[in-house]
Order: sequence, then structure tokens, then C-alpha cells
Amino acid sequence: MAWDFETDPEYQPQLDWADEFVREEVEPLDLAFRGQQYMAPDARLRQVIDPLKEEVRKRRLWATHLGPELGGEGHGQLKLSLLNEILGRSQWGPVIFGCQAPDTGNAEIIAHYGTPGQKERYLRPLLGGEIFSCYSMTEPHAGSDPTQFTTRAVRDGDEWVINGWKFFSSNASTSTFLIVMAVTDPDVSPYKGMSMFLVPTATRGVNIERNIGLGGEPLSGGHHALIHYEDVRVPADALLGGEGQAFVIAQTRLGGGRIHHAMRTIGLARKALDMMCERALSRTTQGSLLADKQFVQGYIADSYAQLTQFRLLVLYTAWSIDKYKDYRKVRKDIATVKVVMPGVLHDIAQRALQVHGALGASNEMPFHQMILGATVMGIADGPTEVHKVTVARQVLRDYSPSDGLWPSQHIPGRLAAAREKYAEYLEHEVGNQ
Ligand SMILES: Cc1cc2nc3c(=O)[nH]c(=O)nc-3n(C[C@H](O)[C@H](O)[C@H](O)COP(=O)(O)OP(=O)(O)OC[C@H]3O[C@@H](n4cnc5c(N)ncnc54)[C@H](O)[C@@H]3O)c2cc1C
Repeated sequence: MAWDFETDPEYQPQLDWADEFVREEVEPLDLAFRGQQYMAPDARLRQVIDPLKEEVRKRRLWATHLGPELGGEGHGQLKLSLLNEILGRSQWGPVIFGCQAPDTGNAEIIAHYGTPGQKERYLRPLLGGEIFSCYSMTEPHAGSDPTQFTTRAVRDGDEWVINGWKFFSSNASTSTFLIVMAVTDPDVSPYKGMSMFLVPTATRGVNIERNIGLGGEPLSGGHHALIHYEDVRVPADALLGGEGQAFVIAQTRLGGGRIHHAMRTIGLARKALDMMCERALSRTTQGSLLADKQFVQGYIADSYAQLTQFRLLVLYTAWSIDKYKDYRKVRKDIATVKVVMPGVLHDIAQRALQVHGALGASNEMPFHQMILGATVMGIADGPTEVHKVTVARQVLRDYSPSDGLWPSQHIPGRLAAAREKYAEYLEHEVGNQ
């Protein structure tokens, strides 16, 4: 199979435009309107961001991961990857381009499994950038093992009644609707007994108990909700996909979400490398530039190597998703990307911090945030350990045990076989041994 790593020539000017647009128009939002990207914008903020979104739409780069029938451009994952590398530099970037987490993943599953009515009610405004969504799956007592979830949905006439607790539901407070995973049949295997529901956040009984922040954020300033679902009533048509389909849907959603994170992480890690190189060329100590010190050269070389390896893996995986159009067929590579991602960002940001000395360690540079972000990536969307198990299981599928006691590559056995194969040519040498 031939691989072509050249970017579509018609798409390159789009990427060049996005690169400049993000640098000039979007990255300043990160400083002027820090942390506000997931809040419903007030009239003043809309005056700033609506024209930017409009420019992106005119340029035909809005929500490019989805097909035209859903308001996107249908560019697919590979092109999204190249675009996300640019957007990942900025917190506002994905929002201005209509491809922010967790909404991209949520939009994908509604596009995949939603009824026409659900698409009209939730997907259209989500893609239009008018509303935000939340994915509510993890529970306080269980995260990486969804078979332990206990949030329950019980059918009552034309309604479902949901009861239970969810933890770390990101952006619940600013969302218009939640996608909630709940047990609908406790008598069968959890893989068949759980379902997904589309629940408007304003529904009575959706109680956001508190918003949890990440390390370093003030106690009251977080975005990850602890939610008590208390007799939450939704109509029968709030079910997303079929009854018992939650695991299949979750795989679709998390597969997309994970690879999109990885695409943006390339952009962030490259930003750290850019800063490292600029500093190395700007700072002199003990008679020479940092860029001339071998330790620093090592940091740069290692970072470039890690970033390039990671980037190729992500692009390859994105290309595979476009090719197979089925996340399950690319599960091994998506899990591999997820495993590698935290380490790449952590290592490059750590080295960039080091090269900046005290300034790097300060709150005037973004390295601590990047390192925290990398650490968090090793937990969010499932911990690294669980993804390693997935990778190993998928890799092992292509192997079988050896016949007999010795490994198939055991040299004495192979040597005997090779000698037998070439016996007529080897007689002389064998005789001499
Ligand atoms: C920033 C952030 C955003 C998030 N956003 C959302 C969201 O929007 N919606 C949502 O539903 N959830 C969200 N989560 C929750 C996330 O999905 C869970 O934290 C994750 O699945 C792990 O679950 P847990 O925290 O309960 O850890 P546990 O399941 O308790 O695991 C704890 C640790 O145990 C170890 N471990 C677990 N399983 C294994 C194993 N099989 N083998 C070896 N070691 C293992 C790992 O070290 C793991 O980190 C978010 C989390 C973070 C950090």
C-alpha cells in the first residue's frame, strides 16, 4: 500500500490562512477573554467572536469534520488533523472553528445515532456554535470501569426517569444538554444493559452539586460538575440510539474525542518546542548561546524526534479513520495515540520550561499549565493503563502460540530446518564442523 504524506495542494492555502488567522485574531482571545470559551457569550463578547466565526464559515473551515448535510465541510479526519495542529495552539481556536471538545465527539454520535428530530433539536444549534453540550458518563465511585456504573433509567409510561450521580461532567454548567449514560436493564450484561439519553440541562432534577476544578484552579472555579440526577423525567424519544447501545455509542464518541485531543496536542507541543528554540537562540550564558550547549541541543533534538513520531502516528491514524470509516477498525491505533500523547506534551513542555529557567517556572509563561494538561490527559477519556491494555490485546490478536515447547524463532530449531533446506549445498561445511 502506498502512502502519500503530501498535503492536498488546494488545502495548503487554507491551512496557511488558518495559521495567520489564529495567530493574529484568535490567540489574543486567550489572553483578553481567558477561560471564557465555554461560557454562553454575552452581547459584548458576541461582538468580538461572531465576526470571527463568520470569517471561518466564509473560508469554509467551519466544523470541517462533519459532512455538508450537517453543516460541516466533510473534510474528514486527516484534514481536520492538519487544521487542529494549528487550532491546538489556542484555547479559543477550536470554538472559533466549530470543532471544540467535548462537542465534536457529542456531535458525531448524534450525527451517527440521532433521529431526525434529535438532530434538528440538538445537532443543528451545536454545529451552529449556538449551544454547548456535556458528556456525563463517569460516576463518583467508578470511572475507568463503566460496568460499575449505577445511574439508573427506568421506563414510566411515555417517559424515562433517571436517578444517580455523575462526576467530572465537563462543561455541564454551560451546556444546553447532557448526554447521560444509564443502566436501563440491570438483569443483562452491562454491555447490553446501558443506554444513552439526551437530557436538557435545565430539566428539573438535574442538580449540579458543585463544579470541580483542576489543580491550581480556585476551589469554586472549576468546569467539571458533580451532578445528582434526581427523578429526572425525559420523554421516551430522549433515548439516543437503541436501548442497550450505550457501550457501542461510547466507543464511537470516545474514539473521535481522543484523536481530536491528540491533533490539538501536536499544536500545543509544537508551541512549546517553538518557545524552547526561540529562547535557546536568545539567551547567552557562560560565553555562548544556550543553543550552542549540547544539553540544550539534546532537549531540542529529543523534542523534535518525539513530536515528529507522534505527529506521524496521529496523521496515520486519522488517515485510517477516513479510509475505514469505522472507529472499531482503528481502535488499536487510537489507543496507542492516547497512550503516547501525555508523555510527548509533558516531556517537551518540561524541557521548554527548563530552558527558560526561572521565567519558565513562573506564571508569566504557560509551561506549568501545559504540564498539568499533559498529566490530566493521562486520566481523562480513560487512564493510560487501560489504553495500554487495549493496545496489547489488539496487538496480541494477530499472534498465535508457538507449536510445542520452543519458540518458533528458537535458533537451534531454525538452524536445523535451514540446514535441511540447503543440505545439498551445505554438505561440505556441515561435514567440516
Ligand atoms: C480533565 C478531565 C475531564 C473529564 N471530563 C469528563 C467528562 O466530560 N465526562 C465524563 O463522563 N468523564 C470525564 N472525566 C472523567 C474521566 O473519564 C475519568 O477520570 C477516567 O475514566 C478515569 O476514571 P476515575 O477517575 O474514576 O479513575 P479510576 O477508574 O478510579 O482509576 C484510577 C487509576 O487506577 C489505575 N487503573 C484504572 N484501571 C486500571 C487498569 N485496568 N489497570 C491498571 N491500572 C488501572 C489508573 O492509574 C487510574 O488513573 C474527565 C476527567 C478529567 C481529568
